[in-house]
Order: sequence, then C-alpha cells, then structure tokens
Amino acid sequence: MVDNVDTPEEQPVLTPTPIYRCKDPACKAWVREEYLPADQKCPMCKGPMSRSMKHLPALTKGKKKRAGKGKG
Ligand SMILES: [Zn+2]
Repeated sequence: MVDNVDTPEEQPVLTPTPIYRCKDPACKAWVREEYLPADQKCPMCKGPMSRSMKHLPALTKGKKKRAGKGKG
C-alpha cells in the first residue's frame, strides 16, 4: 500500500499582515497596507477600502525600509 500524500516542502512562513480590502463584495481586490495608494481607493474599482488582516508570506526581498516617523 502506498500513501500518496504530497508532503509540503519549505512552506513559507505566513505572518498576519495588515491589508486593505475592497468594501465591494463583488470586487475581490486587496492590497498590502504598505502598497495602499495615498488616496486609499481600491485600485480596481476606485471604491472605498477597509482594513483587514491576511496571512501572507513575509516579504524578504529588497531592502528593509524603516518607516520615517516623527518630526523631520
Ligand atoms: Zn474594488
């Protein structure tokens, strides 16, 4: 008997990531919070978006940029 189970290899670590999701249930668009456009409008239908969470693999590529917070 052979167990034909596909073993997951090197699954990416999923971390709860803040995202913005389109409020329109017919529109499935969502973006990571860091990619949210300045106008906070849905990139697909230009409708309003609401904050949510999604388990996503952590971004590793590229330089890590610190959020410039405070006075400057
Ligand atoms: Zn939308």
